[in-house]
Amino acid sequence: MTQIRTTCAACGEVELIPAELTLELTAMNGTGAYLFLCPTCGDQQRRPANHRVVSILLATGVAYEVVDDGGPITEVEIRRFIDALDSGEWADQIK
Ligand SMILES: [Zn+2]
Repeated sequence: MTQIRTTCAACGEVELIPAELTLELTAMNGTGAYLFLCPTCGDQQRRPANHRVVSILLATGVAYEVVDDGGPITEVEIRRFIDALDSGEWADQIK
């Protein structure tokens, strides 16, 4: 059985089997996060997963779900909107 070594924020290094992890994939960029319950303290842990981690986890058969970030509005869009407001350029367009 494949062992996946990762870390718990409280306990440090822990070993899990693929069935104990869930991978959240961001549809747009192929990265995401993985979630697991720490076998030592039982806390839910969430760790960012870059491309490399995502491919390793997928290769070991970890269950995944695709997180749809193509919703009505994203955080980036909100930030861009706030930046646009701060720039004051919109005021020029009001006559
Ligand atoms: Zn722990």
